[in-house]
Amino acid sequence: MESDVYKITEKELIIAAKWWGEAIRSPRFENDINPTIASVFATLHAEESHFSFTPEQIKIFQEKIIENLKSRIKTSPRRICIGIDYGPGKMFSEAFEAMNTRQNSSFCFPWKTNMWIKPGYVSVSCGYRAEIQDIYLNSDFTEKCYLCSQIKHKSSITECNICKKKICYTCSTIDYSKYDESLCPKCNPNRF
Ligand SMILES: [Zn+2]
Ligand SMILES: [Zn+2]
Repeated sequence: MESDVYKITEKELIIAAKWWGEAIRSPRFENDINPTIASVFATLHAEESHFSFTPEQIKIFQEKIIENLKSRIKTSPRRICIGIDYGPGKMFSEAFEAMNTRQNSSFCFPWKTNMWIKPGYVSVSCGYRAEIQDIYLNSDFTEKCYLCSQIKHKSSITECNICKKKICYTCSTIDYSKYDESLCPKCNPNRF
């Protein structure tokens, strides 16, 4: 059940932009489990360069990101995913250029990084196959999984179709081939 209040607000956008502002000051590059020669050379080169952004430049960068995301939540108010592969896409490039810096943007962003923004929630996976970390989780948007007892964002919680208990997706046995079926392991012991 989703109501109108269940939308991404400026708060999530500010937290997201703040994270990226800090990320370009000290980006991570050793993000590949199996690095290629090209990525090793790029890493060396990246480590040689010195990033120096003034607080004013970082502020401009963050404001540009917030501005862009604000327009995106008009059409996508409940979920936005932004990220970097090996170089910045349109939004990050524009924000970077607005800083009016001589740095090479390719060496300033953390590679293989994805961020998910949802109402009351911002999470990041920084690096190839890196774990997703919650960087903001508003308690108004959380529920507790009755199996693992972890507090998670509502979007990571489902309800068992039989016992109606709240379970996280990690603990649930959702069978996507039977899309309407969501069962906890206790109600569906045959799957184990
Ligand atoms: Zn769980
Ligand atoms: Zn159950």
